Amino acid sequence: MAGHTGEANDRGEYGGLVYLPITAENNFTAQIPTEKVDLIYLCFPNNPTGATATKAHLQDWVNYAKANGSIIFFDAAYEAFISDPDLPHSIYELEGARDCAIEFRSFSKNAGFTGTRCALTVVPKSLKGKAADGSTVELWKLWNRRQSTKFNGVSYIVQRGAEAVYSPEGQAQTQALINFYMENAKIIRDRLTSAGIKVFGGINAPYVWLQTPNNLSSWDFFDKLLHTCNVVGTPGSGFGAAGEGYFRISAFNSQENVMEAMRRITEKFS
Ligand SMILES: *Cc1c(COP(=O)(O)O)cnc(C)c1O
Repeated sequence: MAGHTGEANDRGEYGGLVYLPITAENNFTAQIPTEKVDLIYLCFPNNPTGATATKAHLQDWVNYAKANGSIIFFDAAYEAFISDPDLPHSIYELEGARDCAIEFRSFSKNAGFTGTRCALTVVPKSLKGKAADGSTVELWKLWNRRQSTKFNGVSYIVQRGAEAVYSPEGQAQTQALINFYMENAKIIRDRLTSAGIKVFGGINAPYVWLQTPNNLSSWDFFDKLLHTCNVVGTPGSGFGAAGEGYFRISAFNSQENVMEAMRRITEKFS
């Protein structure tokens, strides 16, 4: 984080950070820390695991943040992929979040803007931070100054494209694309499951997170997949120590490619 951590240990974990491992053992739900932390980064639906957070779980985080004077960064890049009506789409659905949370959203995944670069950040005016001398600071003012001096904004043509996402046609088109990718995710889940591979996610998120077969390390599975199936995915350990033994498959492709990749994987691994 811009050089503000300590050194990394053997597991690749940096000093000064509190890690929140999410694995099958804790049902991909992080334990709320027992100590006080200043900043909390949460991403739901999660990349890479595809895990989601219930309202009750996010409320626990908001309550913790308010009790400890912490700030939550809520990364909602995948909210458009939620289909379960009970899952929250925004941290601000929870009581008290406006006093402790910053939310960011991106057009990269819901509308294919990854290359054109457009996103938005919500910094509520009620959110205050503490300076080193204990005085109260309005964070939206700092963010506004940062944006207007170091960034200067998204190009106009790209902003108009992002605006079109909210038009009735844009909503219909982006929803159709999301539905298409979620069909891919279902194909991936079904095919891998029937081949005896344990899968997670892929229901309210465009990623399927699988447990590597035969206890292979993430990178050994990557190599096997690449060399025997000519299929590429993302080794879980690349996301941090808790991802070891897992592997991420993305649903962002044509259905033809997804079917062919699944055919090759299930042929070699079942
Ligand atoms: C893709 C993604 C984003 C969006 O990043 P952009 O810089 O807006 O493209 C944010 N968070 C996560 C976890 C992502 O996977």
